[in-house]
Amino acid sequence: MRVLILGGTGDAAELMARVSNITGIEAIASLAGRTRKPTLPSGKVRVGGFGGVSGLVEYLRQLQVDVLIDATHPFAQQISENAARAAQEASIPRLMLIRRPWERVSGDRWLEVESNIAAASVLENQAKRVFLTVGRQELSAFAYLQNIWFLMRMIDPPDADALVPPGMILCDRGPFALEDEKQILIQHNIDTIVSKNSGGDATYPKIIAARELGIQVVMVNRPAVPPGEQVADVDSAVKWLLEKIVNGQ
Ligand code: NAP
Repeated sequence: MRVLILGGTGDAAELMARVSNITGIEAIASLAGRTRKPTLPSGKVRVGGFGGVSGLVEYLRQLQVDVLIDATHPFAQQISENAARAAQEASIPRLMLIRRPWERVSGDRWLEVESNIAAASVLENQAKRVFLTVGRQELSAFAYLQNIWFLMRMIDPPDADALVPPGMILCDRGPFALEDEKQILIQHNIDTIVSKNSGGDATYPKIIAARELGIQVVMVNRPAVPPGEQVADVDSAVKWLLEKIVNGQ
């Protein structure tokens, strides 16, 4: 059985490692190529866009892919929609592996918004020093906020011609530790964090740190996912795949 895993997340890399050890499965991981030095999953990896739905359908047919697993980031909406349409056109099963979103708990001061644009507009009146952790591709939505100072954390620096709000860039990659996150918030006198509701453990410590320090979090909620089967963890994705083998897909 040949499986294409659309990746770019820690879960996708873990799934790839697990699946590579299963006899009878040949897995190919696909990365968009956004990160300059990506943490490459084990096994066979391809990098770069497919060229929309038609390109993905062609790839699935050419490589005779039997099963598609969409393990992309919950905010990578376009590729998930393309995957849904391409799997349908190629008549192959598709599973979405989407980790659960973080849930607000007692002590959290969250303001939930539906987009980065909405996040920027709420900052306008109530923030002075912001820890912005939405990724380098999303900075332009905040660039007009010239009276706010931003500490912007991302894996790679923004492109030279990118629109960037005023402040400081911090290049780093999770997982992050609670004490380090607290230290960052205190050292830079941060009053508000802006975060996507990505879920998972690697970037959750900043949310705990905000809770413990009484700092507000502007939480960007996830976009809708296309209809279809979904699981929330790697174990369940492996189980789903094994069932497909047993049932001859
Ligand atoms: P996106 O907006 O949904 O996708 C834009 C285009 O990038 C897609 O149409 C596709 O190009 C290509 N693409 C995306 N993921 C791909 C993959 N795994 N393999 C091959 N091509 C892919 O995606 P994005 O938000 O730019 O995210 C890109 C990648 O970064 C994803 O793999 C995602 O898991 C990862 N990531 C995203 C975020 C986030 O917040 N968005 C955060 C962490 C990691 P074609 O149409 O040419 O096929």
